[in-house]
Amino acid sequence: MSQVKVRFAPSPTGKIHVGNVRAALFNWLFAQKEGGIFMLRSDDTDQARSTKEYEDGIQRDLAWLGITHQEFARQSERFGEYDAAAAWLKNEGLLYACYETAEELDRKRKLQRARGLPPVYDRAALELSEEQKTAFEAEGRKPHWRLKLSQQPVEWQDLIRGEVKVDTSAVSDPVLIREDGQYLYTLPSCVDDVDFNISHVIRGEDHVTNTATQIELFGHLIRFNGAGTMPVFAHHSLLVGADGEGLSKRLGSLSIEGLREAGLEPQAITSLLARLGTADPVQPKGDIQELVEDFSFDKMGRAPARFDPQELEQLNAKILHELPYDRVAERLGAEGIDETLWLAVRGNIEKLQDVTSWRDMIRAEIDPVIEDKPFTDEAASLVPDQLHDESWSDLVAALKEKTGRKGKQLFMPLRLALTGLSHGPDMPVIFKLIGAEKARARFRGERA
Ligand code: GLU
Repeated sequence: MSQVKVRFAPSPTGKIHVGNVRAALFNWLFAQKEGGIFMLRSDDTDQARSTKEYEDGIQRDLAWLGITHQEFARQSERFGEYDAAAAWLKNEGLLYACYETAEELDRKRKLQRARGLPPVYDRAALELSEEQKTAFEAEGRKPHWRLKLSQQPVEWQDLIRGEVKVDTSAVSDPVLIREDGQYLYTLPSCVDDVDFNISHVIRGEDHVTNTATQIELFGHLIRFNGAGTMPVFAHHSLLVGADGEGLSKRLGSLSIEGLREAGLEPQAITSLLARLGTADPVQPKGDIQELVEDFSFDKMGRAPARFDPQELEQLNAKILHELPYDRVAERLGAEGIDETLWLAVRGNIEKLQDVTSWRDMIRAEIDPVIEDKPFTDEAASLVPDQLHDESWSDLVAALKEKTGRKGKQLFMPLRLALTGLSHGPDMPVIFKLIGAEKARARFRGERA
């Protein structure tokens, strides 16, 4: 088989979110697994809605997730290619001019529905004479352009859905060029997929009907180019909320930028999105590369995948609990958090930012909680000047012998005095990090 090459093609008209970034991740994982190329394509033909900020934001979000691209293309730089393809299609009679207004089309659809017919475009424009067209133009009407479908069944072997068959006689001839001359998504997308030798088109199942019409268009464009191959298609199911409802209403807070700002780690997002809706269990993977080997279209189900923000939070905590210092050093160095401190507290955080409150508990001043003054005073008197790895167990053993206490009665007053809290990281490391002087003062009930 020839080189695997895939593309993720967002329109820079908004932020990417958990829903659409899943397509990026699947494309990337597949390319990695097959030793292929991942292309990022900016579908910015709608120049009124596309912005540089969104384009930059998409690149930043993908890079943050570890979804790197080897090639990049911007559709607004390729209008020459689209114009040439459109001219050829017009010449072949495959792209035809239509003059109906939106209201006229709407009326037609209502009539069809009233008669129990599917609202498919009736191709009236194909019957227009040159005089009628000239008359429309004289009225100031501008044509929009539709692709003439074969009205035959189109079939393909989808890598996720298996055999798919769409009867294009039940589909309206799609508008490829609007009356203001703007290209809608279909033509530029297919021209690019052919020109850039895209081998696999992996995207959400909301594109299944588009695929049928695109397969016809691909056929024409390959003929026009005299080269190129039909891509293989894979349509994955879409995400729904934990309640089974669509995600669209919540997408604002589920943008990748929003999740980053909420303190989530990129690995939590990729770990969850790569496995949701697949036969593999969701597991914390601290490196996106670890997801590559198990990736397979065969494991993807057709049912919608449920996205639960709580699952994301839990996964985030699990990832942090195992994350080596070098993965966070850059962000934590500035907070004065070194490897020893990180290893001591990472098991007790849910978000990375939580680490600063443990740092402060250790290094800043706290108000100790004293439950039993004579007991903690006794502890203070047993703290040696230099603390080492065994100091905590030495202290506990000595106190046990002196007082006969054990279990919670022995440990809890010490933890409360030293940390002001009834829970937290393991005491042997914490004790050493707090240091002899502070520990003695806290045991005595002094703010330190
Ligand atoms: N720009 C299109 C979209 O965001 C790309 C779809 C495709 O992958 O072909 O829907």
